[in-house]
Amino acid sequence: RAHADLEERLAAFMAPHAESPQALYFCTGYMANLAVVSALGGKDAVIFSETLNHASLIDGIRPARSHIEIYPHRDVAVLKEKLKACDAEIKVVVTDAVFSMDGDIAPVKEIAALCEQHGAWLVIDDAHGFGVLGENGRGALEHFGLKSPNIIYMGTLGKAAGVAGAFVAAHETVIEWLVQRARPYIFTTAGAPALAHALLTSIDIIDSEEGAQRRDHLNALIAQLKDGLGGMQQWQLVDSDTAIQPLIIGANEAALKVAASLNDEGIWVPAIRPPTVPVDTARLRITLSAAHSKEEVAQLIAALTRLERLSGKEDPA
Ligand SMILES: *Cc1c(COP(=O)(O)O)cnc(C)c1O
Repeated sequence: RAHADLEERLAAFMAPHAESPQALYFCTGYMANLAVVSALGGKDAVIFSETLNHASLIDGIRPARSHIEIYPHRDVAVLKEKLKACDAEIKVVVTDAVFSMDGDIAPVKEIAALCEQHGAWLVIDDAHGFGVLGENGRGALEHFGLKSPNIIYMGTLGKAAGVAGAFVAAHETVIEWLVQRARPYIFTTAGAPALAHALLTSIDIIDSEEGAQRRDHLNALIAQLKDGLGGMQQWQLVDSDTAIQPLIIGANEAALKVAASLNDEGIWVPAIRPPTVPVDTARLRITLSAAHSKEEVAQLIAALTRLERLSGKEDPA
């Protein structure tokens, strides 16, 4: 009953953005992605995958045994050409909504229109959008005011929702297909009912006035950080409007050194290096949360400004 209540609540919450949606709860987002991509694919299908997609989507493609077409980052024109040239009966486009290492957002609206035009499914991984994007926290689809029968939406519940697990929201026929065919759903034990109860409270908070205040606060922190670091000389903030705000440092050692200096001041920001990101784009992956305060973000800005000045002095290049 606890799982059913949660799935009904999630389906109702996502209803403004989906055609008669049902929701299916998974123990993790990794398994949800594995389930959706592998169950929708198959030998007769072609899967169109964006180049910066999360590893869990990529891992779902292999067991699907489908033909794969990779399209460049946010490149709708290339995707369009690829879809046009494809005469497979089953086409599946797969993309992150918010990219986890860059924080930028996929052009989901344009991609959804293409999918409708070409009869393709669109699998959206909204791990970093659900709970934070959109006025009511419904994620990327609300952010874009989007509703499409072709969309299969995956939101995770261990990030903004603060507990664990994930869900897929899609047309009831798609959900029934997953229940019958998705091995990562069928061959594992369901998450504990206690988690489902906790998640019902998470959705209540996301859907409340308090949730809206937290989103407003988070957006104010994002603006504060962008304002404070936007004018840096050597280091560059990636163009992102989400809570993921990467600061490109460049060299691996330099990024590690800045992360260590911040750590000494009690600020934890992980340094992300190749091969997770391209060579020479080692970065600090700053992730803001509604639990941070304005004072803390000001402290981070001051520390980074000072460290950038110091690094310039030590390295005459
Ligand atoms: C975290 C994440 C996942 C995996 O979700 P888990 O619940 O942690 O397994 C999938 N996709 C993206 C983009 C993520 O950031």
